[in-house]
Amino acid sequence: MTTQIRADLHVHTTYSNDSLITPKDLIYYAKKNGLNAVAVTDHNYLTGAIKIAKETKDFLVIPGMEISSSNGHIVALNINKPIPRNLPAIETVERIHTAGGIAIACHPYVYIKGSLKNAVCNAFDAIEVINARAFPFQKSIKKARDAAEKFNLPQVAGTDAHYGPQIGYGYTTIDAKEPTIEAVTQAILHGHCQPHGQQVPFILNLQQQTQRLQRMVNKIALKLKS
Ligand SMILES: [Zn+2]
Ligand SMILES: [Zn+2]
Repeated sequence: MTTQIRADLHVHTTYSNDSLITPKDLIYYAKKNGLNAVAVTDHNYLTGAIKIAKETKDFLVIPGMEISSSNGHIVALNINKPIPRNLPAIETVERIHTAGGIAIACHPYVYIKGSLKNAVCNAFDAIEVINARAFPFQKSIKKARDAAEKFNLPQVAGTDAHYGPQIGYGYTTIDAKEPTIEAVTQAILHGHCQPHGQQVPFILNLQQQTQRLQRMVNKIALKLKS
């Protein structure tokens, strides 16, 4: 018997300073958008994810981090210590394994974000073939799928959400032995997973930018007052 997990494997919270998603928003939107698990993958920061995972009792939170390697971004899930940034991709993957986690080549072929491109190799445990905020969307999926097939790696999906309502546009279904962090990461490692998703609608990205701007203006106003 296995249990089906439906998880967005790439979400940033306010512990990443470019995200609007508070821990409360994270769980609220993950539930609202039909998920039963979510991975927290803040930029080069693990403590927040571990804290949220520990404090959330009624929903499965997989702690992780998105590491800026010198070759591009890498998502680590279920690691027991933070991985330093700016190391070569291959060394980053080795350190993720030593820290007990799995290494995902995230958005490997998109524009602007830190993409791994040629640094994708079979040392990774999976490839994020659908990143719901990728540009160009279809083309990046095709290239990532080709790479996953070439290296015979499991395929996963996530949103790369930075704003609550975006959560769940990219998600992975995982057949895990039980709904635990360890069982879910093991199931991904063994390829018992399927990527799903669609592009985040433009309006949600626009709302994200507007709210970020609003937050900056509020901060400045508060500073001027004091
Ligand atoms: Zn990234
Ligand atoms: Zn990201």
